[in-house]
Amino acid sequence: MRTLLVAGNWKMNGSLALVEAFRQTFAAVALPARVEVALMVPFPYLNAAADAFRDTPLMVGAQTLSDRTGGAFTGEVSGGMLADVGARLVLVGHSERRSLFGEDDAAVLARVKAALAHDLTPVLCLGETLEQREAGRTEAVVLGQLAAVCDALDPDERSRLVLAYEPVWAIGTGRTASPEQAQSVHAAIRACLAEYSPTLAEGMQVLYGGSMKAANAGELLAQPDIDGGLVGGASLQVDDFLAICQSAG
Ligand code: 13P
Repeated sequence: MRTLLVAGNWKMNGSLALVEAFRQTFAAVALPARVEVALMVPFPYLNAAADAFRDTPLMVGAQTLSDRTGGAFTGEVSGGMLADVGARLVLVGHSERRSLFGEDDAAVLARVKAALAHDLTPVLCLGETLEQREAGRTEAVVLGQLAAVCDALDPDERSRLVLAYEPVWAIGTGRTASPEQAQSVHAAIRACLAEYSPTLAEGMQVLYGGSMKAANAGELLAQPDIDGGLVGGASLQVDDFLAICQSAG
């Protein structure tokens, strides 16, 4: 059976004080056996979070990375640097990166490869806009984003991905996908993975993201093809995030 992963994405929020609040709470907590937890914090907090969370179940992740290894790329952060300060995962292809920072499928693929090259787990985000959903293109868009990465990886590389289905219309809007809507897309993602390999499909964690909160996490996480959550707003309150983690598994 797949383990569940609940990952918080602080986006451009948070503070050292919030890192400390998470440390205190998660150092003392017992989580369901099947549940893994991670926090994707802004770059300046990675080092402190990795140190602070050492004796907690929390893994530390970043929210993006450069596709370059190093050199004269002012302002960029490489996968090697993330690994060096203790990050184990990194978001790639979040809809905010795609829409606000111009990351197309080729840019997303390059970042997935950069993450894999440094033994970071890429959490590849997929999702359709409201316009695309209303035009009946949800699966075409989501599976297209998936194929743009998976077609260019070898089987070992594919098996090291985590996926996150995040419908753009549900992000930060309070409008969560219903469990049935989410399950239907997750099942389509898993069917697409099965075309590469049944073992890949069986083992892949596919998270749901988009206005997940304690009140709706239980029924989303109970769906057979939903293997965890990617939590934005509700990961900024330690009690809310903990409640989501505890509703899983
Ligand atoms: P919200 O949970 O705030 O909708 O954000 C979801 C998200 O984008 C997580 O990556």
